[in-house]
Amino acid sequence: MAEKVTCDVCGSIYSFQAIKIPVRDKDSIECFVCDNRLKSWNGAKMWSAELLERHENHKPNPAE
Ligand SMILES: [Zn+2]
Repeated sequence: MAEKVTCDVCGSIYSFQAIKIPVRDKDSIECFVCDNRLKSWNGAKMWSAELLERHENHKPNPAE
């Protein structure tokens, strides 16, 4: 099962793939570009992330 995830900080697009594992795992994946936490989990399933499109839309824009 693949899931498309967009980082709401920098706009980078990832494909997340769920992997079933035999033990309980507690971990998280941060955005490779800006370190925003994209997903965290706690259970017999982990996620691997593949960067599809890199964006860096995190320039500060105080006017808006
Ligand atoms: Zn990001």
